[in-house]
Amino acid sequence: MGLGHFDNPCSALPIQVQNREFLMNADIQDYAQAMPQYREALNFLQAVLDFQAKLETKEISSQLQIKPAVARERWRAGQPLLAGEPLSISPALFQETLAGLRPLLPAGETAQTTLDRLLASGFLTAANVETLLDDLIAKSETSIQQIASATSTDPDTVAFLLHTVLSPFFKMQAAPYQVLLQTAAWRRGICPICGSEPGMARLTRDNGRRVLTCSLCLTEWAFDRLRCPFCESGEQPQLRYFTVDGDEAHRVDCCNRCHHYLKTVDERAFGGPVNLQVEDVITAHLDTLAQEQGYR
Ligand SMILES: [Zn+2]
Ligand SMILES: [Zn+2]
Repeated sequence: MGLGHFDNPCSALPIQVQNREFLMNADIQDYAQAMPQYREALNFLQAVLDFQAKLETKEISSQLQIKPAVARERWRAGQPLLAGEPLSISPALFQETLAGLRPLLPAGETAQTTLDRLLASGFLTAANVETLLDDLIAKSETSIQQIASATSTDPDTVAFLLHTVLSPFFKMQAAPYQVLLQTAAWRRGICPICGSEPGMARLTRDNGRRVLTCSLCLTEWAFDRLRCPFCESGEQPQLRYFTVDGDEAHRVDCCNRCHHYLKTVDERAFGGPVNLQVEDVITAHLDTLAQEQGYR
């Protein structure tokens, strides 16, 4: 579905790129103090982020050199930049990285068992890794389902582990195109770089513009406020949102057409720039509420 040929006044405006990573430790510590119910989850997030930061310094530099004209053409046609591009990671590095994640996972629980089975399964061949990367960009769950069924593990846990390990890789691939993206005519709800669905959204502090963030490569892009990013429908009666009493900064946008939901932080109510990875963790109660209402 190509929606990229419409003019988008929103995405023509540059998104302010904010380097919030230096805030991360302080954010997490503040929240862990204020919200003890999320302390364990925040500590885990910090460990994962430290782990991912180390990966970024490894040999996973950007592999592609897509020319600006080609990139713009793909975006105009509504295609994510990496679709059809040859991406690869050495199976040895992948194996080593997955193994490195093991000590961070809660002992003896599903995640660790799943990881052990993945490592022992021999699925990490060069061909399988390539298929997995292609599937992630094409939003196909075939690889994940196959790996889960071959190893008798839970697909969601497999997806979580692989996403955690692959997110820095995709972030590195996305990095060279962030400036170019600021002037791209991209109107779709999926990530303009890797094609993944948005993980969260924020309404910007300056003018309340809606900015989505990719769940895999962490790219941000502007998106209409009155359209659902998942089914790309703009039928307003199908869209609603809810908040919880006493918290005006967080809301959950829901679509009654495709039954997806997206957590959103309003930076105007929040009072400053947010770190959406941290916000995602400390709003887990909103996921529960949305899922109880039948959204996914
Ligand atoms: Zn992405
Ligand atoms: Zn929808």
